[in-house]
Amino acid sequence: MLPVEVLEQAREEMLDWQGSGMSVMEMSHRGPHFKQIAEGTEAALRELMGIGDDYHCLFLQGGATGQFAAIPMNLLGDHRKMNYVLTGSWSRKAAAEARKYGDVIICATSEEDKFTTIPDSTEWRPDPDGAYLHYTSNETIHGVEFPFVPEASMPLVVDMSSDILSREVDVSRFGLIYAGAQKNMGPSGITVVIVRKDLLCDPLPSTPSVLDYRQQAEAGSMLNTPPTYNWYLLGLVLEWLQRQGGLKAVEQRNIEKSELIYRLIDASDFYQNPVDPRYRSRMNIPFTLTDPTLDKVFLQEAESNGMVNLKGHRSVGGMRASIYNAMPLEGVKTLAEFMQEFETRYG
Ligand SMILES: *Cc1c(COP(=O)(O)O)cnc(C)c1O
Repeated sequence: MLPVEVLEQAREEMLDWQGSGMSVMEMSHRGPHFKQIAEGTEAALRELMGIGDDYHCLFLQGGATGQFAAIPMNLLGDHRKMNYVLTGSWSRKAAAEARKYGDVIICATSEEDKFTTIPDSTEWRPDPDGAYLHYTSNETIHGVEFPFVPEASMPLVVDMSSDILSREVDVSRFGLIYAGAQKNMGPSGITVVIVRKDLLCDPLPSTPSVLDYRQQAEAGSMLNTPPTYNWYLLGLVLEWLQRQGGLKAVEQRNIEKSELIYRLIDASDFYQNPVDPRYRSRMNIPFTLTDPTLDKVFLQEAESNGMVNLKGHRSVGGMRASIYNAMPLEGVKTLAEFMQEFETRYG
């Protein structure tokens, strides 16, 4: 979802951005109008997340999946090894891609627990020669989220694709934060990379220029034509978050929204959530019905009541409620009421 206010503003400005006589889609990315949009977006991101001057903010293409490759290419330097913590499908994919570029050490995994928990961080055994430690702060498919930032004796790299901007975070704890925008920041087609400047070293010689952080930083993320309209929409979402009162206020609302659904699930024998309660995601809530033959009926009836995209990922089945920032409390209440009512009829 995108916030309705953001879509309305985009509609208003579609044909003529702030008196420029042009749509943002028609602007030169080197012109003064787009420069203002790009700089405003970066300033809003820095303000919202409290990003210091010792970090670059890059706006790239290729999605989070592109970063699965770009991260080892740019951060390995003289190292051979890198450490990965596996807590679900996305961290597993990140590790699989990194294997093309060096030795991936799986220093902890919850695969035996079907990715329903986070391995006790005191038992992680990262290789001290690793260039970095990578983890995924919210596993979008499995609904497992880190409520803490792990301690690490090497740069911490985090895939925040599905929970960036959902809570306050101390950026200075990280070497690199990355996120595809389309889950919680804006439209697809733009990817944010926040990287500590001193970590940039010579990338692997085969690194494509568009994935080379140093080159992109020097070019203001405009080594080639950036996705201008997506960048603009991302900026509108960031301004909307500022109007919501910033990340502290947004986090409070996300707690309230997710607790509404988890309380309902826990009070019922009809619905289940498989995740270790300590690590339940505030963004993605997977749930199953005691009688899975009712899944189809549930999804059909939800859809005819205006609630779509509730089908769980094909790899885990069941249902999944994704309640990102743009989902209003009212929307979550509607879902909760529907779930209760469905249970009354079929439970
Ligand atoms: C969706 C997602 C990805 C993949 O993002 P793309 O932009 O499609 O490459 C990676 N990591 C997480 C946590 C995701 O939710």
